[in-house]
Amino acid sequence: MAEIPVRLGNFAGDDIDLTSAEAGPKGTTTLSARRLPLADARYQTRVLESLDLSHAPSDGRFEKAVETSGLAPLRPSKLEIFQINVGKLCNMTCRHCHVDSGPDRIEENMDKETINACLRALDKTEAHTVDITGGAPELNPHFAYLVEECVKRGKHIIDRCNLTVLLLPRFRELPQWLAQRKVELVCSLPHYRRRNTDAQRGKGTFERSIEALKRLNRVGYGSGDPDRRLTLMTNPVGAYLSGSQASMEREWKEHLSTKHGVRFDRLITINNMPISRFLEWLEESGNLQSYMELLVNSFNPATVPGLMCRNTLSVSWDGKVYDCDFNQMLELESVASDGKRPTVYDFDPAGFANRDIVTARHCFGCTAGAGSSCGGAIEGD
Ligand code: SF4
Ligand code: SF4
Repeated sequence: MAEIPVRLGNFAGDDIDLTSAEAGPKGTTTLSARRLPLADARYQTRVLESLDLSHAPSDGRFEKAVETSGLAPLRPSKLEIFQINVGKLCNMTCRHCHVDSGPDRIEENMDKETINACLRALDKTEAHTVDITGGAPELNPHFAYLVEECVKRGKHIIDRCNLTVLLLPRFRELPQWLAQRKVELVCSLPHYRRRNTDAQRGKGTFERSIEALKRLNRVGYGSGDPDRRLTLMTNPVGAYLSGSQASMEREWKEHLSTKHGVRFDRLITINNMPISRFLEWLEESGNLQSYMELLVNSFNPATVPGLMCRNTLSVSWDGKVYDCDFNQMLELESVASDGKRPTVYDFDPAGFANRDIVTARHCFGCTAGAGSSCGGAIEGD
């Protein structure tokens, strides 16, 4: 495969108006643009805490539920994954988005100085994987720089890609560029049926996603090569839990291959977290109480050892450090052993390793059923 000459940052550009339908389907608009109370993270936490779950197991208190696993208080294991959320800018506005991303989120994007601080913090850890997320992380003007720096450090790199972004003219060469750097792509696709995917992400998403997958297949992604790993990530299109990851993967592979000629390597399933725009949908559809009861009633203590907050840290666009991406969205910062809230600018791995993880009711989304994390189900089936 011929090397593409890449100027750092040359994927940035204003070739297309991100607010346009041409740039990406729009299932809704951001809570932030609508100035809704739910745009405030603290308000979201209050909504969840105000639900009456006293009749549910552990009184609906996550800390009490964790005690049944024998792992309370929840503490970290070895740090393996350094997750960087480079910003909230996105070419789409999906209805279930837990980040409240969209084309209007232009303020919340990581600058070069913070990216360099992330790299310095990363160098103090033994994390083997850098997980780059957003928004659509590729839209950050320093995305290519960040990837190159992680390649130099020999890290396994994950790009959490929404697929449709790859159709923007400025990203025509991005699939091959990523393939040459052995970046794993974890791509969101709610369902292999057009109707289900478009209902959640906006009309036209499915068709564009299939076109993007074909482009990835053409440069070697999805054919079993560990250096070109293509992972699809699915979440339920409704107020229910993810199904069996293994049997869904078989079903998806069969359907996408025979109907659309598309290949991928593995499927991971993730539960929808009751926060941000999915929380809005739960409220509007009258499903909030029953969904929270479902999560609490489905608490599975066997998932607790594998929770992603135990082996991952999550950095926000402004350099703050969190126990996971969901806590980041609720602005529940990590608290190090000295009581301080760490940032990438003053990151101390020892103090971070010796902390209690911050939890609240939304955490039941990670422990329900087979469990759920950015790596998919926690318990195999
Ligand atoms: S779910 Fe992903 S693709 Fe959709 S708006 Fe949020 S960040 Fe963008
Ligand atoms: S939401 Fe975060 S802190 Fe809570 S259980 Fe899940 S991964 Fe851990």
